[in-house]
Parts: sequence; structure tokens; C-alpha cells
Amino acid sequence: VAELPENEKRSHASVDYEAQSTHGNDRCSRCRHFIDASPPRCEGVRSPIAAGAWCKRFLAKAHDLARKGLSELYG
Ligand code: SF4
Repeated sequence: VAELPENEKRSHASVDYEAQSTHGNDRCSRCRHFIDASPPRCEGVRSPIAAGAWCKRFLAKAHDLARKGLSELYG
């Protein structure tokens, strides 16, 4: 985890933040930048962050990418 100080994080507007993801399974809780704390935070986007939110910096967790790769190989 390489979390930026809160005042150096990107604003919601600059990353097209959606409080409720319209991108299917792509959401903060499945993003590599998500910090599963109480309340949740993001390494690079300003609080508040919701587990079900999304932004254009979304980066799938490695195990989700691996699973997707496998399902494409064997699906
Ligand atoms: S989707 Fe965006 S706001 Fe959510 S955890 Fe990932 S980088 Fe942060």
C-alpha cells in the first residue's frame, strides 16, 4: 500500500468518481488501490470512498485478472 497524504489525493471530479459504480463488477472493493478500513479509503483518491463506488483509475486486483484470464482460456 502506497497511500498518498489526503491533501495530495485526486479529487472525485478529476477521476470521474461514481458513488455507485455503473461498471458492473468493477468497483472500489475490487480495485488494487482500495484500502479496506473503517471507513474505507483509496490510495490515491480523496475520501470519502465507498466500497461500491468506481473511478477511472480502477485497477482490477491480480486474482480477479487471473480468474478472468482462466475463464477466457477455459471458458
Ligand atoms: S476505483 Fe478509483 S476510487 Fe475506487 S479504489 Fe480504485 S482508484 Fe480508488
